Amino acid sequence: MQRVRLAHTEALLAQLRSAGPLSRADLIRLTGLSRTTLFDIIADLIARGVVVEREPALSGHRGRGRPSTTVSLNPSAGRIVGIDLGRATITVIVATLGHDILARGSRPITLAAGPARRANAAIKLIDDLVQEHDIDLRALEAIGLGLPGLVAGPARPAGGASPSAAAKQVRARIQDRYGVAVVTDNNSRLAALAEGTWGAARDVRDAIYVRWSDGVGGGLIVDGRLARGANGAAGEIGHVSVDPDGDPCPCGGRGCLELLIRPSALIERCAARGVTVSDPADLVARARAGEPTVEDVVRQAATLLGRVLAGMVVQVDPGTVAIGGTLAHAGEVVLGPVRAAIAELAMPRHTRHPDVVPAQFGDEGGALGAVAAALRLNLSEPAPAFPA
Ligand SMILES: [Zn+2]
Repeated sequence: MQRVRLAHTEALLAQLRSAGPLSRADLIRLTGLSRTTLFDIIADLIARGVVVEREPALSGHRGRGRPSTTVSLNPSAGRIVGIDLGRATITVIVATLGHDILARGSRPITLAAGPARRANAAIKLIDDLVQEHDIDLRALEAIGLGLPGLVAGPARPAGGASPSAAAKQVRARIQDRYGVAVVTDNNSRLAALAEGTWGAARDVRDAIYVRWSDGVGGGLIVDGRLARGANGAAGEIGHVSVDPDGDPCPCGGRGCLELLIRPSALIERCAARGVTVSDPADLVARARAGEPTVEDVVRQAATLLGRVLAGMVVQVDPGTVAIGGTLAHAGEVVLGPVRAAIAELAMPRHTRHPDVVPAQFGDEGGALGAVAAALRLNLSEPAPAFPA
């Protein structure tokens, strides 16, 4: 219901954005919404200051009787900021409630800088963008914040900082600075939300998104929502162990998928077969160009990913599997083996298999998803900003 309501609200806002002030009668005609639904949504939007109601100028009134009032977007309302504070890059997008992007930017950052300096760097980027594009942040309604790693996880039993302690610190600093709600989540999971909202999975209600880069993460869209899970970790596909005797992983497991298929591991595998690959971009380019050893290494990794995905496909029954991240640029060299593994392993005779497609958004996916999360927080979906 909330997704329907959100869609109705967006349809209405889109009309106001493109057409300017409209009467309720015009809006009923243009959106096809029922009178009750439309009046209800407008009342809600007026109460939140997103739209304003005004009397039409009398000189412009040519009909009979009392002129009807119009509603329009509140010119000063409704800014959303999406932040992806990744391992190596900060990306910020400033958008409107109408989903228009007002400004975007990115800068390098390191994890080693620590939570306080990372938060300050994000704030500096936001403030620079706001100044450069002359944006009035008094109309800021909410911030979405994407971070790497397990954002909402429990404290580590063995002591030391929990992953979520750093997330809490970053979030608190940003919340203090701007004084609005900050909804926080893992950045790969937010990229999944972006794909589900505007990207490769926008037309399906159930989807799996995988970001295959140095980290292998992702998210699940189930029934139109980003599935959270009991630990806020639903979709962490990179930490399925595929080799119980393999190397230890920071997550506590051994032989995790991420350790076996991340670009650095594939570059090592090429080297072991006598082929020197300089970096992930080189790996992708040469796999794509069909250089035999490189292509074979990437295909085998994609098959491994596809096998893990097949298990998830059986559980989630998605309409779409979207692959993003650095390795997605290898195109069919990656998508083909993933598709084949799913077709072979996920109930081949009993289900129609999902479309396996490249993700639509590249490096901006996490920040766009942060915007989407903040929009959902804003538009009546009760998404608690966690970690609390
Ligand atoms: Zn792991």
